[in-house]
Amino acid sequence: MQIDAFINRASALLVDSESARLDAELLLAFVLDKPRSFFYAHPEAVIDTDKLSALWALVERRAEGIPLAYLTNTREFWSHTLLVNEHVLIPRPETEDMVEAVLQLSLPPEANVVDAGTGSGAIALALASEHPDWFVLAIEYCRDAAHVAWKNFNAANGAATEKNSNTPALICASWLSACAQSCLDLIVANPPYIASDDPHLQMGDVRFEPRSALVSNNGGYDDIRCIVKQACICLKPGGYLAIEHGYLQGKQVVDIFSQYGFTDVLNHNDLAGQSRFVIGRNAQAKFLNQ
Ligand code: GLN
Repeated sequence: MQIDAFINRASALLVDSESARLDAELLLAFVLDKPRSFFYAHPEAVIDTDKLSALWALVERRAEGIPLAYLTNTREFWSHTLLVNEHVLIPRPETEDMVEAVLQLSLPPEANVVDAGTGSGAIALALASEHPDWFVLAIEYCRDAAHVAWKNFNAANGAATEKNSNTPALICASWLSACAQSCLDLIVANPPYIASDDPHLQMGDVRFEPRSALVSNNGGYDDIRCIVKQACICLKPGGYLAIEHGYLQGKQVVDIFSQYGFTDVLNHNDLAGQSRFVIGRNAQAKFLNQ
């Protein structure tokens, strides 16, 4: 079968996908190990029979709704190609917007930084690669997810050529429970924040992502509240906390930050214009015993 015929046939089979043609091309690029531009230059090239059967099997799984990132086991985030699988959330562009905002903060050159609930390690890797002198600690509770982060950090370490490159450290722990008092300059988190009855959980890629990375009790706020409460203990005075949240949760998350004495609390939009993350500064020692 020729490349153009495959793309047409596979796109027709992927009717339920919003990006059927792109999906077909990306699966083809994955199996043939060629850039998409090759298909435009050589639409008449013939696909080997063994590759074709692998391709139809992937198209079938994509037609069942399985996210493309889980079929190709990769996702781009910041400048990194990350390993992803069903144990981790698929990194999203809106999380890159939070990374970008965090990189604008005024932090010490050798800042102590934590990515709480790192999943694939996306945020930690992005921050470490931008700041060779930061100490970046990635924390993940789920061992299967931590294993994915560990592979991503090892791969980044192996690929690094400059002598001042930086890869995050990794531990398995619940949120910030393993962190000492007043030692961190920055905490970043993309925690689970979807309410358990949110209909969005029945739609698209989200159906196949780990529930523990998506859903939080009490309307989606439990883990955010836990992180803010622990962060005001672990952050140095003046240290920053950045947390991603759902697009309708901005006001409540700002309120939670304020309840724990954070100052300069600001809600930020992502590039799509949705309210998406809050950044605030730790103020006081007086909340330590709450
Ligand atoms: N942003 C994701 C979504 O709404 C959820 C990510 C999360 O819960 N941290 O699909």
